[in-house]
Amino acid sequence: MKIAIFSTQPFDRDYLLQANLAYGYEVVFFETRLHLGTVSLAKGFDVVSCFVTDQVGKEVIEKLVDLGVRLLALRSAGFNHVDLNAAHALGLRVARVPAYSPYAVAEFAVGLLLALNRKIHLAFNRVREHNFLLTGLLGFDLHGKTVGIIGTGKIGSVFCHIMRGFGVELIGYDLVENPSCLEDGLHYTTLADLYARADIISLHCPLIPPTHHLINAAALASMKPGVMLINTGRGGLIDTLALIAALKTGQIGAVGLDVYEKEEGLFFYDLSTSSIQDDVFTRLQTFPHVLITAHQAFFTKEALTHIAQTTLANCQALEVGQWQETLI
Ligand code: NAD
Repeated sequence: MKIAIFSTQPFDRDYLLQANLAYGYEVVFFETRLHLGTVSLAKGFDVVSCFVTDQVGKEVIEKLVDLGVRLLALRSAGFNHVDLNAAHALGLRVARVPAYSPYAVAEFAVGLLLALNRKIHLAFNRVREHNFLLTGLLGFDLHGKTVGIIGTGKIGSVFCHIMRGFGVELIGYDLVENPSCLEDGLHYTTLADLYARADIISLHCPLIPPTHHLINAAALASMKPGVMLINTGRGGLIDTLALIAALKTGQIGAVGLDVYEKEEGLFFYDLSTSSIQDDVFTRLQTFPHVLITAHQAFFTKEALTHIAQTTLANCQALEVGQWQETLI
C-alpha cells in the first residue's frame, strides 16, 4: 500500500516512521499542503493523509478519486476542512483520529487560562528585561469563579474534570449531556445563561455550520464584562473582527487562542523573516491580554504516537476491508 503524507512536519515523519515499523507500508512525505495545485502529487497512491491545514474541498476530492486514491486518512480529530458530502458521494473513504489525547488539548486550555489570568506571558518578558515590578500583573483567584464549557465531549469533559480541582462552579452547554461532567458537578444550561454567568468560557465544540461564528458580536455583548475566552477548538467558532471590537471596549478581558479562523498558511510555518499579510491577525496580537499559540494544543508525545498509530491502522482497515468506527 502506498501512502502520501501531505503537510508533513519533522515530528510527523518521526512518529509515522516509527508506527510504520509494524506495517511496512510505502510512505512518501510531502511538505506541501494538499490543495488543487498540489493534488496531482497523489498520483499512484492508495491513501492520502492530510492535516488540519489542508483544504480538501469538492474539487480536490474529485481529483483524488480520478487519481485512484481510495482513502483520505486525516491526522486530526476535526474534519471541518474536508467536504465530507463530496467524499461520500464520490465513494472516497475518509478516516480520522477521533481521540488521540483529549488530555493534551484540555491541559493546554488550562495552561492558557492560568497564563492569562496571572499574566505569566507578560511576566516572563518583564523579568527577562530585569523589570521586577508587579504593576499590571494582577490576577484573580479561580476558586469560586464560574467556568462555562461549550462542548462537553472528550476534550471538554477532561477540561471539566481538571477545572473541578480549582473549586470553580462549572456550567456547560452541549446538545447532549455527558455523565462524566455531571459527576464532576457541571450544571447544563442554555447558551444565553452561560454567557451571562461565566467568568471564563472555554470552547470545545466542533466547527460545523451551526457553530460557525458561534461567538459573534451578539454573543460577545451578552457575556459578563471582562470575561476570559479560551479557544482550543477551531478558529471559525469565533468572529475575529467582532472579538477585536469587544477587546477594544474591554467587554472581553482576556483571550487565549490556539486556533485562528485564517490560520492556513500562517500556523506551522516560520514566517519570522516575512511580512504577515493578515492585518486582522496582527491587530489581535497587539492586545496585552491576548495569548495566541499556533495550534499546538494537540502537540504531546502521547498524542503524536496515537495519531501515527491510528492513521496507519485506518490504512490497514482499508487494506483488509475491515471498517472501524474511526472511518467516517
Ligand atoms: P467530541 O466530538 O468528543 O466533543 C464535541 C462535543 O461538542 C460533543 O459533545 C458534541 O455534542 C458537542 N457539540 C456539537 N455541536 C454543538 C453545538 N452546536 N453546541 C455545543 N456543543 C456542540 O470532540 P473532541 O474530541 O472533544 O474535540 C472537540 C474539538 O476540539 C474538535 O472538533 C476539534 O475541532 C478541536 N480540537 C482541537 C485541537 C487542537 O490542537 N487545538 C486538537 C484536537 C481537537
